[in-house]
Amino acid sequence: MHPDHGHKRDEILEALWTMAEDQLQTRADLAARVESTRLDEIVAEMAAEGEVAEDGDKIVLTESSRERAAQIIRRHRLAERLFSDLFGLEEQSWEASACTFEHILDEKVTQSVCSFLGHPPVCPHGKPIPPGPCCNGERKPIEPLVIPLKEMKIGQRGRIVFITPRTKRRLSRLASYGVIPGSELTLSQRFPSYIIRIDQTDVALETEIAKEIFVRVERG
Ligand SMILES: [Zn+2]
Ligand SMILES: [Zn+2]
Repeated sequence: MHPDHGHKRDEILEALWTMAEDQLQTRADLAARVESTRLDEIVAEMAAEGEVAEDGDKIVLTESSRERAAQIIRRHRLAERLFSDLFGLEEQSWEASACTFEHILDEKVTQSVCSFLGHPPVCPHGKPIPPGPCCNGERKPIEPLVIPLKEMKIGQRGRIVFITPRTKRRLSRLASYGVIPGSELTLSQRFPSYIIRIDQTDVALETEIAKEIFVRVERG
């Protein structure tokens, strides 16, 4: 195999998977999704090794490459969920990272990420995430485990996982009230300000700050 072809092959498998979702299967459709001056050469190489099947103008995944493509798509879409749900990032800032992540995540990390996110059935674009061994065939939609404090319900309990304050001063002020990663809290009021109870003490928070505190919530 040409040394540069491995990454391109993954990209081709991924493109063939998404093309199938969109009911597309021609060589031109593939060329529209994968940029490479060597596309024909790589596809021929893959066909020779049984990774793709060609039939006239059509190119499709084979039995053996379908599984590999599913894994790449799974990692990509889980990474998308991670960036958008957990870090609250806008799409333009994470699309490139999701593409990098899909090549870095190994199977164990992928399963941890999937479990952490509650085995999400779809990506932020609404496309299905192929299930892994951790999903156990049960694709129940589960709400994310970690959410901004702002989205907690009254009476809900949880533990602070991380805080993303805009200023250091704000962080130390929060710390002086016991609002630090690891602290357990209960949300007791949402309006006019957020009130959380930490260690028998009520702490009032502005909405801006409630957005910056991420809590792993208990689900009853
Ligand atoms: Zn997506
Ligand atoms: Zn899973």
